[in-house]
Amino acid sequence: GVPVRLDKVSFSYGEVQLAFDVQFAAAEITAIMGPSGSGKSTLLNLVAGFETPGSGHVLIGGADVSAAPPAARPVSMVFQENNLFAHLCVEQNVGLGRSPSLRLTEADRADIAGALARTGLAGKEKRLPRELSGGERQRVALARVLVRDRPVLLLDEPFASLGPALRDDMLDLVAAVHAERGMTVLFVTHQPEDARRIGRNVVFLDNGTVAASGTADDFFAGAGPEAFRRYIGAGA
Ligand code: ATP
Ligand code: MG
Repeated sequence: GVPVRLDKVSFSYGEVQLAFDVQFAAAEITAIMGPSGSGKSTLLNLVAGFETPGSGHVLIGGADVSAAPPAARPVSMVFQENNLFAHLCVEQNVGLGRSPSLRLTEADRADIAGALARTGLAGKEKRLPRELSGGERQRVALARVLVRDRPVLLLDEPFASLGPALRDDMLDLVAAVHAERGMTVLFVTHQPEDARRIGRNVVFLDNGTVAASGTADDFFAGAGPEAFRRYIGAGA
């Protein structure tokens, strides 16, 4: 894993202004929390390259990627929704993580089968996205980033549509893969228990900026700022 830094980044959607100055520790899982509209998805999109800063710089592993297109950045991302190509089956959607042209070697196919097994999708390889539940679709997206295997993994509330037991299974899978590969993980979630389950650090956003950051141990022991305690106290 490599550090991810937003160095005095500003961004606006018309009237809506956001500003981020924050570093994410290499090879750690950081939970990004904050109210709806606080800027969590925008922050991930700036790291992934789907948005470009108005000013400031995005650094991944010390390299300035501010102007690099998404495909050139060492990141993979699971979105809140709409991760999959509707006309491609499960196996092909996952295969895209390995090869954008789906020219797959035997070794690639073995890795894809492994990722499908780990995400509980074995036997569903030939289904189309519309033939899956919402939770299964998110698991396909997770399988794809597992075969993509980049040093930075961006997760935007990937498991919000899963029931609690399966959500815990998927979080434990992310933690296990993280323990094996040591990626830097930026994990957006509204669920305090999910942040606590796998997050080492917490970055708390409010109103388009970083309101506070610290270790998950401190934040969940009540040492976080008042605004964070109110946020998780309100059931997030
Ligand atoms: P949620 O928890 O609901 O997913 P979020 O923290 O991910 O929220 P963002 O999606 O990053 O929030 O939005 C941050 C701000 O930018 C909000 O005020 C939102 O209304 C605004 N915004 C986001 N996307 C756009 C867009 N495409 N055009 C205009 N405004 C946008
Ligand atoms: Mg969002």
